[in-house]
Amino acid sequence: MENFNIHYNSIIVGSGPSGLGAAFKLAENSNQSILLIEKKKISSGGLRNDCKQNYTYPVGFPFEHWEKEEADELLEEVKQHLNPKMETRLDIEKYIQRAKKLDVDILAIDQAHVGTDKSSELINSLIDKLKVLGVSVALETQVEQLDENKKELTLATGEIITFDNIILGPGRADYDWMQEQMDRIGVEYKDNIVDIGIRVELKEENYPIVKEYYDPKILFPNKVRTFCTNSGCAHIVREKYKGYYSVNGHSMSKDKKPNKLVNFAMLKTIRLTEPVVSGQQFGKILGEMVMQLSGGSVIMQRVGDFRLGQRSKKETFNNDLYDFKPSLSNAVAGDLSLSMPAKILRDIWSALKKLDSIVPGVLHPSTILYYPEIKTYSNRPQFINKNFCVKEGYYIIGDGAGTSRGITAAWSSGIRAANDILNKS
Ligand SMILES: Cc1cc2nc3c(=O)[nH]c(=O)nc-3n(C[C@H](O)[C@H](O)[C@H](O)COP(=O)(O)OP(=O)(O)OC[C@H]3O[C@@H](n4cnc5c(N)ncnc54)[C@H](O)[C@@H]3O)c2cc1C
Repeated sequence: MENFNIHYNSIIVGSGPSGLGAAFKLAENSNQSILLIEKKKISSGGLRNDCKQNYTYPVGFPFEHWEKEEADELLEEVKQHLNPKMETRLDIEKYIQRAKKLDVDILAIDQAHVGTDKSSELINSLIDKLKVLGVSVALETQVEQLDENKKELTLATGEIITFDNIILGPGRADYDWMQEQMDRIGVEYKDNIVDIGIRVELKEENYPIVKEYYDPKILFPNKVRTFCTNSGCAHIVREKYKGYYSVNGHSMSKDKKPNKLVNFAMLKTIRLTEPVVSGQQFGKILGEMVMQLSGGSVIMQRVGDFRLGQRSKKETFNNDLYDFKPSLSNAVAGDLSLSMPAKILRDIWSALKKLDSIVPGVLHPSTILYYPEIKTYSNRPQFINKNFCVKEGYYIIGDGAGTSRGITAAWSSGIRAANDILNKS
């Protein structure tokens, strides 16, 4: 990165999909001086991990911010930049018919998958294109804080840069940083939603639907849904959050040798109401409880043990029925029922039983249930217009603002904020 100017027309914080969406829109449609700041070497969210792109409303688009017509229009713009190669969706009618009888919806969506091994190539090419368009890109550069009263920010190095407009897209992981900045600049916010659930891992032969529908989006009663299904060369990972670990899954591109495993999340959305103040805190406390029970990791239990009401032990991962190794080697064998609030466990287990009637085999005794998978959804700022403006010249976008829940919607939120700036200039 060359030296910084002391002033830019627009500064974008975060090179996740929301920041990239904003940067491309501004760069392609104006002569503004634009600075994109990213604290890591490379964007760290879902664009880097797995990179499944969903192109069908409402997947990833929270209803309170998005109507179908506008989302569809912006998704076409997203496609122009990400050039998705859509997965084929074959004969899923039989699953849809079975699901209907159980009050379950299977959404037919357009989706593309890049894979963890190929995603950095995509990200680097996007950054290169932005540079060609004249955007200054500062990687490994952290924004420390926004100034309370002036349109300026301070970098971790102490440098101060001023701006006319700033678009903040820091993602979910940095929700506390975002909260601090909103306090500093005087923007009100609330937080009330959290997704809590498990990640299921099983042999691909027990979940054959993935051969016909890469990432089946299935909606069950009581706000339970499948999320982020991985197959081919699929792995479960442990992600570190402040005070706990959450599991997640990803898969490699088709070039990698398949390991014949599938993983997907079963998540229940919980909307907390008064007097509870924070979904994030609630999620964090549940995560910390698992840390206590597992000695500092995440837990896993075989379905066979769960059905018998007994905890899984190291030994029960070696019996003849339990015939595949967990892909997450540092998960600790334990007891889901001891760790998860009853209401969440009941709804997820009921959804799993329905899923087993739709795709028989899911609840094979060898299937592993990992816990916790926690998705916190940031603090929702009070916006002053529909384009995610929080005060004149300040925009907050992407998952960190609750305006999206996925790559393509995050990118779309960036386009919207950029459009607002373009319309005002
Ligand atoms: C492991 C994982 C896998 C996922 N897989 C998928 C998937 O396959 N498909 C899908 O649709 N969604 C997926 N998601 C969700 C997806 O990541 C998000 O919906 C999307 O990335 C949100 O985009 P964003 O731009 O809001 O935030 P992010 O992508 O999180 O980007 C925010 C960026 O801001 C940077 N940043 C934060 N604070 C600062 C600061 N102070 N200074 C400078 N830079 C800062 C961060 O380093 C980060 O790169 C996944 C998420 C995770 C964690």
